[in-house]
Amino acid sequence: MTIYLDNNATTIAAPEVVEAMRPFWSEQYGNASSMHSFGGQVKRHIDRAREQVAALIGASPAEIVFTAGGTESDNLAIRGAIEALEGSKKHIVTSRVEHPAVHSPIKRLENLGYHLTEVRVDSDGALDLEMLDRSITPQTALVSIMWANNETGVLFPIEEIAQRCKERSVFFHSDAVQAVGKIPIDLSRVPVDLLSISGHKLHGPKGVGALFIRKRTKLLPQLLGGHQEGNRRAGTENVPGIVGLGQAAELALEGLDKEVVRLATLRDRLEKGILDRCKGARLNGRNRLPNTLNVSFEFIEGESILMMLDEHGICASSGSACASGSLEPSHVLRAMGVPFTCAHGSIRFSLSRYNTVEEIDQVLEVLPGIVDRLRELSPFVQNGGSWA
Ligand SMILES: *Cc1c(COP(=O)(O)O)cnc(C)c1O
Repeated sequence: MTIYLDNNATTIAAPEVVEAMRPFWSEQYGNASSMHSFGGQVKRHIDRAREQVAALIGASPAEIVFTAGGTESDNLAIRGAIEALEGSKKHIVTSRVEHPAVHSPIKRLENLGYHLTEVRVDSDGALDLEMLDRSITPQTALVSIMWANNETGVLFPIEEIAQRCKERSVFFHSDAVQAVGKIPIDLSRVPVDLLSISGHKLHGPKGVGALFIRKRTKLLPQLLGGHQEGNRRAGTENVPGIVGLGQAAELALEGLDKEVVRLATLRDRLEKGILDRCKGARLNGRNRLPNTLNVSFEFIEGESILMMLDEHGICASSGSACASGSLEPSHVLRAMGVPFTCAHGSIRFSLSRYNTVEEIDQVLEVLPGIVDRLRELSPFVQNGGSWA
């Protein structure tokens, strides 16, 4: 049996989502743009999904554009907003801990001559609001700050940031991929201009997402072609995906308040258990999403822990960029100033509505032994306090 605690990487599509998508592969395959009623029926289901997604974030349906995922939503928001300004302002403000889907398009703009301010975070992962405030000038075109961090779960004060951007007439985009469906979001009260959503992070399908574009926000489309999505995103709609995302949004909204409490209780049980039972364990990040726990184990490698957890069928994630073969710790933990001896041994556990207390206790059963064993083998410890 797999114990899946890597829900910030991706989630299982809810059974209700899979069921809702099913007819659109076979019976209802019409093109929503067609003149015949066979296609027209399909359009009604897209409209319904738009309402479902809008309801989850307190938006109106006309403000929702469907995309091919969180990455496309981030790219569309950033590049579309910048292009709409036609180079009249050439400064962008973002944070040091953004997802690559935000960081990379902004870096591209930097290469094209835009100036960049990357706002600091402190050791708890909290954003330096004062620095953000100071950074915004009449030259600032766009502020892009994530709602919740994917690695640590740390929440940023989006309402305050949005207010400050509004006062200064600066576009504000928030990558809310990790926040939507996990915590209540009401954009009728928070003046964000642009907000990114991804289906597969909230028990919807992969390869579909949405961008909230507030009414009267000027944005240049990035995919050019047909007139779909109100001329804001060309291409024949991914109907099963869109219907699935709508269903996932509706499910997330149902009982969200209760689920926030249940998840936080589970996560806190895991957190307390680890900090109590594992030597040299350290929590990364405070003021977080209810489902995320990022913890460092001093003097050991996160990848080794992951491999041993994997032998017990437990899926989690390490903070470090092991994929590239480099041993650099994650940019998020570095930005927080997590000590070198800890940053390498960081593990992210991210929970979902399908996790149970039995699963959490199973992890607490095996993890302390794994940590003890690896620390005995650690070259750092064997060499009396220096990496071999
Ligand atoms: C997963 C993720 C993305 C990318 O979303 P995709 O749908 O996988 O393209 C963007 N931002 C954050 C914060 C994420 O966690």
